[in-house]
Amino acid sequence: MAQIKAPRGTQDLLPADSYKWKYVESTLMAIGESFGFKELRTPVFESTDLFERGVGDTTDVVQKEMYTFEDKGGRSITLRPEGTAGAVRAAVEHGLLNDALPLKLSYLTSCYRYEKPQAGRLREFHQFGVECLGTASPMADAQLILFASRIFDAFGVEGISLEINSIGCPKCRAEYHKALKAYFEAHIDSLCDTCKGRLEKNPMRILDCKNPECKKIAHGAPVILDYLCEDCKDHFEKVKDYLDIADIPYKINPRIVRGLDYYTKTVFEFVSDAIGAQGTVLGGGRYDGLVEELGGKSVPALGFAMGLERLMLLLEAGKFAFPAAATPDIYFCSIGENALKVALTLADELTADGFHAEIDILGRSLKAQMKYANKIGAKYTAVIGDDDIENGVLNIKNMETGETIQSDFLGFADTFENEYLAYIEKKEFSNYTDFGVEEDG
Ligand code: ATP
Ligand code: MG
Repeated sequence: MAQIKAPRGTQDLLPADSYKWKYVESTLMAIGESFGFKELRTPVFESTDLFERGVGDTTDVVQKEMYTFEDKGGRSITLRPEGTAGAVRAAVEHGLLNDALPLKLSYLTSCYRYEKPQAGRLREFHQFGVECLGTASPMADAQLILFASRIFDAFGVEGISLEINSIGCPKCRAEYHKALKAYFEAHIDSLCDTCKGRLEKNPMRILDCKNPECKKIAHGAPVILDYLCEDCKDHFEKVKDYLDIADIPYKINPRIVRGLDYYTKTVFEFVSDAIGAQGTVLGGGRYDGLVEELGGKSVPALGFAMGLERLMLLLEAGKFAFPAAATPDIYFCSIGENALKVALTLADELTADGFHAEIDILGRSLKAQMKYANKIGAKYTAVIGDDDIENGVLNIKNMETGETIQSDFLGFADTFENEYLAYIEKKEFSNYTDFGVEEDG
C-alpha cells in the first residue's frame, strides 16, 4: 500500500529530539513562573470571529493564513494561528480580570498558519507565549522585555538583538494614517492587490507586507515615531529609560509594525542572523485595545510570543549542550521463564518507587540482552538465572564502574536505592572536583 506522509509544513518530533524540547519547554515555563506567570491552556480551535476581530481582518494572518473550516454543526471554526486572542477570550469569559491585577498568563501552544514552508516557517509550529493584563505602566513593558531577554541569557544565546519601536495609539495614528495614505496613493500602481485593498482600511498593514515590491515602497514611507502623541512619546521614553537601567541593549527600529492588528505603543522583536531568513525568534508588544475589542472591559495589556522551532534552530546553531536524555536506572537480564517472572516483579517494585527499570520483553538471548542494556545506556544491570533464584541472592552491576554488589531478593528495592543514591552523590561530587582540577591545570 502507498505510504502516507505527514502533511506539508508539519514536523514529527522524534524521541531523538523530544527530550530537548521537553527541557526547553520546562525551562521556559520555570522562567515564566519566576516572573509570576501562570499557565493557561485554551482550545486548539476557536470561533473564526475571534481571530477576525482579535488579530484583525486586514492582516496577512486572517486574509491568507488561517485554517478555517465549517464543522458538522455549520459553525465557522479556525485552528488558532496565535495564542493571544484565545488567552484574552478565556480571561474575559472566566472573569479573570475581576481578580487582583495584573493577570499574568503563560502558555505553550501549537499554532497553525497556511504559509509557504521553509526553514523556520511551518504550517504547524509552536510558541511559548505570555500575556500580562491590567497594567498601562511602561515598567510592565520594560520588565516583559527584560523577561524575554533573560530567556536568551538562560540558554546562553549570543548575537541576538533587541529591536523596539512604538506604534502609537488610535489617537496619534489618525494623523499618521493620513500621511501614510498620501504616500502609498502616490505609489498605488506598484502595490500588490492585497495592499491596494488595505490602503483605505488599514494602510499600516502595507508596512508589514512580504511582497518584495511593497517592501521596497514601504521603505520610504513616513515613520510613526514622528507622529506620536505626548502620552505615547512619554511612555516610549520611560520604557527606554527602564531598559537602560536594567542594562538591556536595544536598537530602535521604526519599521517594526508587527503582523497583528491589535498592537499599540511599544512593540519589540528579538532577531538573530544565525538561523537564516526567518530571523525573528520572539515578538511582542502592548495591545491596550484588544480586551475591549473582544467584549471585555477596557483593560490595558501586553505580551510576547516566541517561536519554539526558531529557538531550537538558534540553540542548535549555538551548539547548546542539552542535558543528556534520561537512561534506564536498571535493566534486568533474565535467563529462562522463571527468571523473567522474577524480573517482572522486581522491576515493578522499582518503577513504583520512581526508578526507570526495564526487562527483556523480546525473548532475547542473555548476550543480546546485555548488548541491548549497554545500547540503551542502563546505569545498572542485574542478571537473573535459576541459580540466583534458588540462592535468593542477586548481583547488581554498575555499568560505568564495573563494580558489583549483592542483594537478597526481599530487600532488593532498598538495597538498590541505597546503592543508587550513594553512586549519584559520589558522581556529582567527583564531577565537581574534576572541574576544579581542570581549572588549575
Ligand atoms: P514572520 O514575520 O516571521 O511571519 P510574524 O510576525 O507572523 O512572523 P508572530 O505572529 O509575531 O510572527 O509570531 C511570533 C513568533 O512566532 C515569530 O516571531 C516566530 O518566531 C514564530 N512564528 C510565526 N509564524 C511562524 C511559522 N509559520 N513557523 C514557525 N514559527 C513561526
Ligand atoms: Mg507571519
